[in-house]
Amino acid sequence: MLDFRIVILLLITFFVAWLAIIAYRKSRENLAFSLFVFSVGVWSLALALFYRAGSDFGNEFWGRMVYATGSLIAVFFYQFAAIFVFKKINPVWRIIIFALTIFLVYIYIFTPLFVKNVFIEGAVKGYIYGDARAIFDIYFDIYFLAGFLVLLRGLKNETDLSRRAQYFFIIIGTLIGLILASSTNIILPWFGRFEFLWAGPIGVALWASILTYGIVKHSLLDVKIIATEIFVGLMWLVFLVNIFVFASLTELIFNLALFLATLFFGYLLMKSVIKEVTQREELELLTQNLATANERLQELDKLKSEFVSLASHQLRSPLTIIRGYISMLLEGSYGALSQEARKPVEIVMSSAVALIKLINDLLNVSRIESGKIFYDFKPVVFADIVNKVLDAVKENARQKNSSLQFNNFAAQKSVWGDESKLYEVVMNILDNAIKYSSGGQIDVGLKTVKSGEKENILMSCRDNGIGISKEDIPKLFNKFTRSNEAKTAQSSGLGIGLYFAKKVAEDNGGRIWAESPGVGLGSTFFVEFPVYSGK
Ligand code: ADP
Repeated sequence: MLDFRIVILLLITFFVAWLAIIAYRKSRENLAFSLFVFSVGVWSLALALFYRAGSDFGNEFWGRMVYATGSLIAVFFYQFAAIFVFKKINPVWRIIIFALTIFLVYIYIFTPLFVKNVFIEGAVKGYIYGDARAIFDIYFDIYFLAGFLVLLRGLKNETDLSRRAQYFFIIIGTLIGLILASSTNIILPWFGRFEFLWAGPIGVALWASILTYGIVKHSLLDVKIIATEIFVGLMWLVFLVNIFVFASLTELIFNLALFLATLFFGYLLMKSVIKEVTQREELELLTQNLATANERLQELDKLKSEFVSLASHQLRSPLTIIRGYISMLLEGSYGALSQEARKPVEIVMSSAVALIKLINDLLNVSRIESGKIFYDFKPVVFADIVNKVLDAVKENARQKNSSLQFNNFAAQKSVWGDESKLYEVVMNILDNAIKYSSGGQIDVGLKTVKSGEKENILMSCRDNGIGISKEDIPKLFNKFTRSNEAKTAQSSGLGIGLYFAKKVAEDNGGRIWAESPGVGLGSTFFVEFPVYSGK
């Protein structure tokens, strides 16, 4: 029969070794912490072997090892606390601590100064201490005290909330662990009571668990990993114990082989589960990063729109003044212009007009993007809009030798829309028809068409210009899209007008589209809106 104390101690050894691995896997920065947790496991193992030892030598050796390994817990705890709070330890300090620890371990293991001997009374194993016991006991308690004070100091200066939560876990966990373990393994032994030595690691393992939880903060404590690791760990333990239950050499070899096989397959199982979970976590992290990046992009996009809007407004005012004065110059308000001067001033005028259009286009895009496009809906006679636009572009058409033809079959029918915005839509279409053709006829037609029960007004504008290829037609209404032919024919233009026109047409309950037999064969643009029936 296996001693239950040994079983508990072995279980604790496995458990804390697992905690140490979790913390280390989560972040290499947790090395100091993992060492501390790991030392708890080593101590627990030493105690298990101490209880298992049968010979005098074994009792004494493992008895001393219990103290040697226990002292390491104190040293590693202090180191962890210092690194947690100050991020690093002074290298001189580190060397001093290291040297003292080696010295201490030497005293514990090889001299009778601390442990003179071990006695056995029934099931209880106890210590007969040496002369220097108090010195070493105090020395090693100092580490705990120092670590604890360092943590308290760190907590006092910490403002970050999640770090404060970690401090909370560490300090509370340390208090619980120290009270439990020191009562069974320090205080009781001072009174010569040794029957609870084996329970010490329970308190310390609890301490290590609370700290690991605080440090790792639930994230890697994935249920699936935990379940697999506990399962595999138990399996290993069972098959490990099983090795020693044999009746013949064959059985021993068989048990050993079984254990090795469990070791191997358990390892594979654990690896695959961990891989799966880490991949999932990585994916979650990536998604999160993507979401943050997306938010940032949206923010930048908004800033850009605001900037474009602001810059356009600022540019438009002086340009409008320039256009006004040039117009007055051309009209002779400041005296007649000489024949030579007229031509360049006209060029300045048309450039100013083109520039104002560009700026208006930009402003429209930024309005669409910032959602600040407002409509003033009213019934509007569509033919009036077309006439106004025709009037505005006639000079331009004359200069390009284009003749404009308007056939109105929609009489005085109205649509429900924003007049100024609809004006811009029609203007865009007609302006393009003139811009992208070199002379020739431009036919504008207005008629009513039936769409189910409803009646629509359909405007068409046909030109004999550069035409549009099949592939380009669906793209024209996208932002900043221009066909190659358009770029060659007209270097200026941002490819925004139709994008804006589409948005306005749709917001006003209508639609816009283009047709063309192909490049060089002219094109026809259509806009369609429901007729306003007055209801
Ligand atoms: P822009 O005229 O500034 O380039 P638009 O958005 O008004 O921008 O037009 C987008 C594109 O659609 C033009 O660049 C051109 O390729 C094409 N397009 C528009 N109207 C015509 C037309 N009447 N004939 C041929 N192509 C046209």
